[in-house]
Amino acid sequence: MTVRVRMAPSPTGFIHIGNLRTVIYDALFADRHKGTLILRIEDTDQKRFVEGAAEAFCRSLKTLGIIPDEGMWIDDSSKLIERGPYGPYLQTKRTDIHQARAKELIEKGLAYRCFCSAERLEEMRKAQHDSGQPTRYDRACLKLSPEDVETRVQKGEPHVIRLKVPDQGSVTFHDEIRGDITFDWKEIDDQVIIKADGIATYHLAATSDDHDMEITHVIRGEEWLSSTPKHLFIYQAFGWEPPKFAHVPLLLNPDRTKLSKRQGDVSVESYLEKGYLPETLLNFVALLGWNPTADREIFTRAELAEHFDLSKINRSGAVVNFEKLDWLNSHYLKQLSEEAFSVYIHDELAKVTQDPDIQKRIAGLLRDRVAKKSDIATIATDFIPSNEDPQADLIRWKEQTSEDAITRLHAVRELLLIIPASDWSAPATLETKIKQMIAERGWGNGEVLWPLRVTLSGKKQSPPPFELLFTFGEKASLARIDQAIRVLSA
Ligand code: GLU
Repeated sequence: MTVRVRMAPSPTGFIHIGNLRTVIYDALFADRHKGTLILRIEDTDQKRFVEGAAEAFCRSLKTLGIIPDEGMWIDDSSKLIERGPYGPYLQTKRTDIHQARAKELIEKGLAYRCFCSAERLEEMRKAQHDSGQPTRYDRACLKLSPEDVETRVQKGEPHVIRLKVPDQGSVTFHDEIRGDITFDWKEIDDQVIIKADGIATYHLAATSDDHDMEITHVIRGEEWLSSTPKHLFIYQAFGWEPPKFAHVPLLLNPDRTKLSKRQGDVSVESYLEKGYLPETLLNFVALLGWNPTADREIFTRAELAEHFDLSKINRSGAVVNFEKLDWLNSHYLKQLSEEAFSVYIHDELAKVTQDPDIQKRIAGLLRDRVAKKSDIATIATDFIPSNEDPQADLIRWKEQTSEDAITRLHAVRELLLIIPASDWSAPATLETKIKQMIAERGWGNGEVLWPLRVTLSGKKQSPPPFELLFTFGEKASLARIDQAIRVLSA
């Protein structure tokens, strides 16, 4: 059997991190089994349809390196295209097939037309709710005579088509993540499968398309678990063999509530914009609720695929720890080539300095400090000399007098004036020279390096003085020292 899995996004807006996880699992599963990865766009919910969302989905997938073998995709100008022998892959283009299938279900006595108005359904639900009953369709329209139904259809009366699910007994199926699951039919509503506008709902469309596209494994979010009996009912009605199902548990906030937009950003696009690298997101999201080996957090896509096993995914909801995302991103940023890293920081760094020489010097120091784009400007600012005078009481080290601090700064000044230009090429050479001078004078490091560092940065906390000297350069460093001496002498 060749594995065929589909990603089936609805183009209703941004990509939720939870949807990304399903997509990644689809891709890893296909990789693992050398199967086919298909992209089907489920656009049957026209009310929620967002123009451009399908294209944006494809672009984000492309950024993440998840490229379907078959189905919808985008060309170089970001226009949607279809590839493969099982099309159309845009769901509404299959409406004729869905309608024919619904008709067939009616003929088999497994579906029926329902003319109830939205108001009537609302009243019915309210009454059921008030009397503590489960809210489900009361099958009023199932009592209509075939002639009556026919006349109303002929007259063009708006109606939907509903499944007629069994009203007793139960259905059991095997979920690849959760094991065997049983639902009582009496918990299952007569699902609408064709809406009044003639378009299929997700339930009929997905089931019908999964069959036609010979999908072998359906990997999807837990929110669809309770719909699976309805889908199995359709498979059975047509005598089709159902695919295997795997329902991936929900993602949770640290307080174990459902991960939602209200508690911060949950869209993949926003994480990419913030500068989380594609490899970071892939690694991070893949490990929500699953870990191939307990002793590691960093995995390439190939390593993830090699270990991927649906039955190893946790059954309970996965808490999303965004601190780990920063940690992972700093790891992947360190793996970037020097050139790729300078492209990564360019726009943010340009907000702080336009000088290409200073930019270059700062770039090397940002490497070990940056976790995401918003860190860049803040951290880089530390490496640019400020015009503000440093404060005398901050410059003095412990019980140090102003005179002592001035003597130490003078000594550094003299040294900086005589060392060769080559010593300015790295913080480490400056460090060696300055520490040598301190030792020769019989001073302690603190009494020199503290005043020097505060002189340069103006702050109690900052990067080491050698890095500041290195990025400021000779002229600006000497100017800062003169400024401090002036402040201390006042
Ligand atoms: N279009 C559905 C969604 O976006 C897909 C569910 C499924 O995979 O069956 O959640």
